[in-house]
Amino acid sequence: MTEQDQAITEIRESVRTLCAAYNEDYWRELDKTNGYPTRFVEEITNSGFLGCLIPECYGGAGLGLLEACAILEEISRSGGHPGAAHAQMYVMGSVLRHGTRAQKQKYLPEIANGTLRLQSFAVTEPSTGTDTTSLKTTATRKGDKYIVNGQKVWISRVQHSDLMVLLARTKPIDQRHSKTDGLSCFIVDLRGAEQRGLTIQPIDAMINHHSCELFFDNFEIPAENLLGEEHKGFRVIMDGMNAERILIGAECIGDARYFIDKATRYANERVVFDRPIGQNQGVSFPIATSYAHTEAAALMVEKAARLFDRGESCGAEANMAKMLAADISWKAGDTCLQTHGGFGMSREYHIERKLRETRLYQIAPVSTNLILSYISEHVLGMPRSF
Ligand SMILES: Cc1cc2nc3c(=O)[nH]c(=O)nc-3n(C[C@H](O)[C@H](O)[C@H](O)COP(=O)(O)OP(=O)(O)OC[C@H]3O[C@@H](n4cnc5c(N)ncnc54)[C@H](O)[C@@H]3O)c2cc1C
Repeated sequence: MTEQDQAITEIRESVRTLCAAYNEDYWRELDKTNGYPTRFVEEITNSGFLGCLIPECYGGAGLGLLEACAILEEISRSGGHPGAAHAQMYVMGSVLRHGTRAQKQKYLPEIANGTLRLQSFAVTEPSTGTDTTSLKTTATRKGDKYIVNGQKVWISRVQHSDLMVLLARTKPIDQRHSKTDGLSCFIVDLRGAEQRGLTIQPIDAMINHHSCELFFDNFEIPAENLLGEEHKGFRVIMDGMNAERILIGAECIGDARYFIDKATRYANERVVFDRPIGQNQGVSFPIATSYAHTEAAALMVEKAARLFDRGESCGAEANMAKMLAADISWKAGDTCLQTHGGFGMSREYHIERKLRETRLYQIAPVSTNLILSYISEHVLGMPRSF
């Protein structure tokens, strides 16, 4: 075992211990009431796990994506929902990679110690959806400010965040030199924002992900909050996408392992026709199939994370990791539900909640079709479709 493997084993054990205090009833109650896991988020932040990717010189743990993946996987595997907090780990990557020295010094230490929550990013819009480079929200420079007008949708955790990264149009669409030209990123201070022209409307959704619609009405952002170069904000967002996809892949591996653990336990315990149901291969084979596919998807997540940590190109692997892991977590969840028969439908067994939560990852942060489209075009060299 390498030193890194040993360290990751220890991280996993610590996360498991921390999560044990937040059992499945804790998460079910939050799901029922649309509550936010404040206590859990505080503890996991104070333990240094959410700041694990922030370099030590800014007060973080200075770890890599491989370690971050282990943390999120263990939260998922424990029955929790890391979606409540995962973005605190990776949204700061935009500040780290593209922020000015002053921005990094201003924000990163406080994100690392949990004083500031940067766990929201606003890209998606209702009328343009996946076609990000056509987005319509504008940020118009006026003296030392940008004035923002427009609308965003599905922006998660915005009510539980102090800061948000916003992607908006700074150049009219008919003046852009390329599809990605003319978009810029900003660090938005959300504190008191509702008194300054931002309306936040929570969306009544299938899962407890704290997603909202945002309406900007002459909302002012100081020009010093521009993140990266003006008009080149699409690059800032793109640079964070691989990390996000790999981390979501790890969460899905945690979900898949949660479902497999639970299904296996039940298949051994539940007796029907005087024998454990797991003795029937019609019950055991789907669980075994899920296990094999999960192990394969986990290898892809690990490969992508290692490439990312070495600073090598990992677009294809990050996309495949997210797709394979999301596919198997969904299938393993379906198998787990089937193994439990009617009891699988009971909220008391927690399966239906986890199944709803893991279903998200077929759609967000990027849908499966868009990943297949990336592989078709960029890996296999087939014609671009849009
Ligand atoms: C719970 C939740 C949380 C979210 N959190 C955030 C967040 O914090 N910040 C944020 O910015 N966004 C967030 N999103 C938005 C998410 O990233 C988008 O929903 C996702 O990217 C898909 O975009 P869309 O919903 O507009 O679908 P659309 O773009 O309308 O697509 C609809 C369907 O058509 C398919 N499709 C579209 N075009 C093509 C094509 N050319 N070829 C093949 N298939 C195609 C898509 O795959 C999809 O299945 C969140 C979404 C959800 C549901």
